[in-house]
Amino acid sequence: MTQCLIAIGCNQGDCQAAINQACKKINLLPSTQLLATSGLLKTEPVGPLKGTFLNGAVLVETQLSPHQLLQYLLELEFAAGRRRSGSVDARPLDLDILLFGEEIIHTQALWVPHPRMTFRRFALHPAAEIAADMQHPEIGISLGRLAEHLRQRPNIIAVSLPRQFAIDTTHMNLSGEINWVNPPNAIAAQKLLQIPASSTAEWLVLLIQDAQTLATTEAQAKLRIVMSAPGDSLQTPFANSWAGPLWNIPFGNQAQLHEQIMTAIQAMTS
Ligand code: ADP
Ligand code: MG
Repeated sequence: MTQCLIAIGCNQGDCQAAINQACKKINLLPSTQLLATSGLLKTEPVGPLKGTFLNGAVLVETQLSPHQLLQYLLELEFAAGRRRSGSVDARPLDLDILLFGEEIIHTQALWVPHPRMTFRRFALHPAAEIAADMQHPEIGISLGRLAEHLRQRPNIIAVSLPRQFAIDTTHMNLSGEINWVNPPNAIAAQKLLQIPASSTAEWLVLLIQDAQTLATTEAQAKLRIVMSAPGDSLQTPFANSWAGPLWNIPFGNQAQLHEQIMTAIQAMTS
């Protein structure tokens, strides 16, 4: 028997009914039992999606394999009217495996732990509500502590770029909500240390371009983004000294980087 945490989302139709129905059906899957359901969060969509979401999580105990469980969940999505060929916006039901015990699965069809669960408030908070003691096997801390990290750390994102893409921050053209700080820079460092923990609207994005600034920024950041060079396979993302949310993505160009940072900010706040 393995305990498995599943995220449930919906942004189309009668979401309350679809989620209730999904919970009942999950409980009826072979060798699977529903242990707990979270409260539901109403959230605005992140990235290109439209339509208000209802998000929650369920904890199950199952003898199914991870891939068997995924197959059943895809069937439940289909039965609820989900069609992947249609509009990407329409999600009458979205079922994602967040954790499967402490298994780490990196296949094309299934990636567990879910790579963005650690900084998506709408995924992490319902998950932590019902499974605060479950360990994130790649980071090595509990969901309860991850949720606390997301709530309490100041609004700082630390970004490592591939060496060949060092950015000249004087030419960054980003929206006013984001301040870019390029250490080592004495004024920037001072500014960093003055960021109040309660700061909500403003975000500071730090580029980590040398090992020296790594420790300072890690002690402050809410999220680390590690960008790999195009063509490089994404490495096991968890640096040994970091015990918080980390997003490992390939570097495209500055416009994409901006887009990804905005998406991450939305996910951490929405
Ligand atoms: P998302 O939920 O990431 O916005 P989709 O719901 O369209 O995207 O899922 C697309 C595919 O993602 C699924 O068909 C599935 O094979 C794959 N996938 C990879 N990892 C997972 C996971 N942990 N849980 C659910 N699906 C996953
Ligand atoms: Mg999904």
